[in-house]
Amino acid sequence: MEIRNIAIIAHVDHGKTTLVDQLLRQSGAFRENQVVAERAMDRNDLERERGITILAKCTSVVWKNTRINIIDTPGHADFGGEVERILNMVDGAIVLVDAAEGALPQTKFVLTKALARGIKPIVVVNKVDRQDARPDEVHNEVFDLFAALGASDEQLDFPMLFASGRQGWADVELDGPKKDLAPLYDLVLSHVNPPALNKDAPFAMVASILEADPFLGRVLTGRIEQGRAKLNMPVRVLRADGTVVETGRLTKLLSFRGLDRVVIEEAEAGDIIAVAGLSDATIPETIASPEVTAALPAIPVDPPTLAMT
Ligand code: GDP
Repeated sequence: MEIRNIAIIAHVDHGKTTLVDQLLRQSGAFRENQVVAERAMDRNDLERERGITILAKCTSVVWKNTRINIIDTPGHADFGGEVERILNMVDGAIVLVDAAEGALPQTKFVLTKALARGIKPIVVVNKVDRQDARPDEVHNEVFDLFAALGASDEQLDFPMLFASGRQGWADVELDGPKKDLAPLYDLVLSHVNPPALNKDAPFAMVASILEADPFLGRVLTGRIEQGRAKLNMPVRVLRADGTVVETGRLTKLLSFRGLDRVVIEEAEAGDIIAVAGLSDATIPETIASPEVTAALPAIPVDPPTLAMT
């Protein structure tokens, strides 16, 4: 199956969770009568309490035989380089902007980093159903923002869709058919490059997101940078300086399906997976086949800045 890895960038409340829910629904990730007790990207209790998305989460939808892994980016002050580590796993981004409010600081913060990394974002002007929506003005504001943040000509030439995540549609024109999100899925497939990584080299991935799962224990998520991950394969965990942190096996390999993580036997370069079963590995260490002796380049972890906006 082909893969696209994208980040989603939005100011809090601009409709990220609602849009991702709709993307999941329309790609059939939810069964018809399934009650979705919690919203897509708000699973963490702390997040639910505060009503905002804090931790990076990976969601995946399948569209036209392509798996689209969607990674949420924290919208506020950086958690020790987390935004950069997430952006390093993706080849594209959706910048979601509220059609009434326009681009706000959290959008700028992550967008600056995405542009610096050479990502060519897709812009979605969302909530155009709002009474006070000013979609064309906001489109222009986003263009000006890209320019002010130093976007290249190619980045400035961003594709843009108007959308209502709540109503579940996206269209190139404001007076389009307003039918569904097919134009957005199609744009992701056509505008974002598939990851071009060597599948035949020895396996290596960078642990980019760390979570403590009540059932699985320590779970590390990252993109496979080269080779293939196979269940139970022996691995070593390497620090930036080449120190071996631990030697172990990939006893649990997980891939993202909708909101769930499912157990898999194998995955290849380009895919974003989660592994469990290692006891000491942490971010941003390299998990690799024993024959790999150097760590992959990674963004170091800064002391966390807990400044909440
Ligand atoms: P997030 O913080 O970016 O994840 O935003 P949410 O998806 O939680 O949405 C924030 C608020 O905006 C909620 O009250 C939603 O019901 C509302 N909302 C989301 N999408 C739309 C939309 O397309 N149109 C309108 N009018 N409201 C929306």
